[in-house]
Amino acid sequence: GGMYNAVIRALQTLGLADAFGNARVPIYCLNVTYPLVPEEIASFCAGKREVLIVEEGQPAYLEDAILAALRRADVNAVKVRGKDLLPLAGEYTGEVVLTGISKFLGREQAVAPMRSLKERAAQLLSGLPQRPPGFCVGCPERPVFSAMKIIEKESGKYHVSADIGCHLFSTLPPFNIGNTVLGYGLGLASNSAVNPAMAKRTVTIMGDGGFWHNGLTTGVANHVFNKNDGILVIMKNGYSSATGTQELPSSPQHSDTKEDISIERALEGIGVPWMKTVHNYHVGEVAKTLKEAMASKEKGLKVIIAEGECQLERQRKLRPVVAEKMKKGERHVRVKYGVDEDTCTGDHSCIRLSGCPTLTIKDNPDPLRNDPVATVIDGCVGYGLCGENAHAAVLCPSFYRAEVIQNPTWWDKLVARFRGTAVH
Ligand code: SF4
Ligand code: SF4
Repeated sequence: GGMYNAVIRALQTLGLADAFGNARVPIYCLNVTYPLVPEEIASFCAGKREVLIVEEGQPAYLEDAILAALRRADVNAVKVRGKDLLPLAGEYTGEVVLTGISKFLGREQAVAPMRSLKERAAQLLSGLPQRPPGFCVGCPERPVFSAMKIIEKESGKYHVSADIGCHLFSTLPPFNIGNTVLGYGLGLASNSAVNPAMAKRTVTIMGDGGFWHNGLTTGVANHVFNKNDGILVIMKNGYSSATGTQELPSSPQHSDTKEDISIERALEGIGVPWMKTVHNYHVGEVAKTLKEAMASKEKGLKVIIAEGECQLERQRKLRPVVAEKMKKGERHVRVKYGVDEDTCTGDHSCIRLSGCPTLTIKDNPDPLRNDPVATVIDGCVGYGLCGENAHAAVLCPSFYRAEVIQNPTWWDKLVARFRGTAVH
């Protein structure tokens, strides 16, 4: 697990291990923490001067249990260290574990260069504006939360079980959606305890990564078997994006050749009674389907598969294709959205429904108005959420869609000249 990796990395940094886990310091790794095997603990600790327990969290159950096991086995010469060198609370990150282990081994000076590098980096970065975490520009998961926000405004709040993945950014502004989160793929399993206690039907959000990780069995199979009522939204973006866009059985590159490993077929096989697929970027359609699931008289699990490829991965694939076209001088059309500053009232309801980093504000060009107007800056990937939101939530007519043509043909130039003459 993570704790073992953090220990090996710390020892590697101190020159006491290699990346393959060959360490010069003996390690007793507890793959299973309960029940402990007292004989193994006693034989590992016997003859050693000191041992360090690397145990995240408080109370220090393992440290106390190991102390008791050693006392019972009459292994008293070894000194047990743990929470005196490592923090009682907080996450045991690589740096935290390295600091504790370097103290334990009397090699604190080894951490000094890293610490001064960090201080220098903090000084250099101090002048930069903060970059709060959030969905990427063009993320296909953002529109689903815009739709949920629109529904929330109409019908009031409802319980949302969140899950691990990029979609967990929904718990931050401007969405603030998500009441609980248990673990990767465990949203629906945890929801089965919450759903019966709620007056309104509840919603669980799960990524396709979480679905394949364990959501299919712990959540879907459990819900169907127990005939639980509830709504599950599966974000089918094609990858385990939050951990580095690793591929899944249902990734686009596999779905052509292995159609039998699709989310839909897995759900059908398990007997899900109600299932709909929506295209994420169509906010109105997503909102309509969610409302339908909420109002449905049919009991049992209702699954909405929200489809839209991870934009980060999509842009990685698109960029070299566009660069190649540009090199060859071929025509390329790029879509861009914008806001008409003359009709924008500056109420910012579009920003509150989107949170896209490229939809921001600028000074109002009208000297008689103070409120900054909305604007779309460079970096917009043209997925059109701002316009979709304005339409679905009936906000304003200020958004426009433009096509930027690179390497235009003679026909494009003729049309542009005609438009330039006819439209003023
Ligand atoms: S990595 Fe992909 S899924 Fe995650 S926030 Fe970015 S675009 Fe969205
Ligand atoms: S673009 Fe429309 S919704 Fe956004 S701030 Fe302007 S008027 Fe308001």
